[in-house]
Amino acid sequence: MELKRIYLDNNATTPVHPEVLSEMLPYYKEIFGNPSSVHWFGQQAHNAIQQAREKVAKLIGAENSSEIVFTSGGTEANNLAIKGVALALKEKGNHIITSKIEHHAVLNPCKNLEKFGFEVTYLPVDKYGIIDLDNLKKSITKKTILVSIMFANNEVGTIQPIEEISKICSENGVYLHTDAVQAVGKIPINLKELNINLLSLSAHKIYGPKGVGALYIRKGTRIQSILQGGHHEKNRRAGTENVPGIVGLGKTCEIAKKDMEKEIKTLTYLRDKLWEGISKKIEDVQLNGHPEKRLPNTLNVSFKFIEGESILLNLDLKGVAVSTGSACTSGTLEPSHVLKAMGVDPVFAQGAIRFSLGRENTEEEIDYVVDILPEIISKLRAISPLYKKKS
Ligand SMILES: *Cc1c(COP(=O)(O)O)cnc(C)c1O
Repeated sequence: MELKRIYLDNNATTPVHPEVLSEMLPYYKEIFGNPSSVHWFGQQAHNAIQQAREKVAKLIGAENSSEIVFTSGGTEANNLAIKGVALALKEKGNHIITSKIEHHAVLNPCKNLEKFGFEVTYLPVDKYGIIDLDNLKKSITKKTILVSIMFANNEVGTIQPIEEISKICSENGVYLHTDAVQAVGKIPINLKELNINLLSLSAHKIYGPKGVGALYIRKGTRIQSILQGGHHEKNRRAGTENVPGIVGLGKTCEIAKKDMEKEIKTLTYLRDKLWEGISKKIEDVQLNGHPEKRLPNTLNVSFKFIEGESILLNLDLKGVAVSTGSACTSGTLEPSHVLKAMGVDPVFAQGAIRFSLGRENTEEEIDYVVDILPEIISKLRAISPLYKKKS
């Protein structure tokens, strides 16, 4: 019998929504023009991009669609925001504030800027992964040009008090950038009510194609382009536009706006059912992240005394795809920088598993996972030297 596959790794990426794909296809075929061309082919592509820009702007409540700049994804949007502001404001100051739990697409551009004379403050977080507002206030100096704090965390789902953060930034005359890649399309965002200068988003985390995203740049925000080339995107991002991708991003934003309320209800129900099942059936587990201020689809659980990698592999053998909190790309089992910053006990941190749900998941799938997990965990604990020491 073929193994039924259950995908619970939607914070890593999502499948493209069928309606998104069908909207994209003509732009690979009949409507293939270069949006910069003056003829019919070009103008069709140009118009499609403008329509997509409207849809993205609408989802996040941007005042004007001209504030949306298309990029190759969340990583480029973050790089453009951070390096672009640093370059534009370097005469004003050289200090940037971010947090310890950011995605590497924020942490690494910041680290890179340190090599060029910028100073970066990495704010700590509490046990739920939330920054301290007084600490943020105190960290702002005359030299501070940018605060970059993520809207919602990709590993544990914790949502930052972004409204309060935005107030502090505007009171102090400092730009605020937020990496909202995990928040856009998943929870309501209204930029008309928030004083945010720059916001990054990405299509492939919300049922759009990979390799396309956008940076919202509030009107009047000073920023320098980091790619030099043609005059695309009003001189803010050079390079021929990824027309099919941008059309896909627009469509996926339109669907997200329409379905969000319903999705939040369904995902919260499934997520909480999963946690209830796990915490009832398995001992020595811990929920990582804020109990309430959390993405509706994200559940990060630590299973004490065992390694997340082993759980992941065992679940994969049963057809269930999840991810661990650790950065195993280097081949070493480094515990996640997010859990570390949250002060999670290392014995818990190494056994962290992230379940991230999506629109295609069903209640039966959640029941199945709750069914098979206890056996996997007890099997792994039976061979864990740490667990033996306990008993
Ligand atoms: C995935 C992700 C990114 C990177 O986006 P890409 O489009 O994959 O480059 C940045 N920040 C967060 C929080 C993410 O989850």
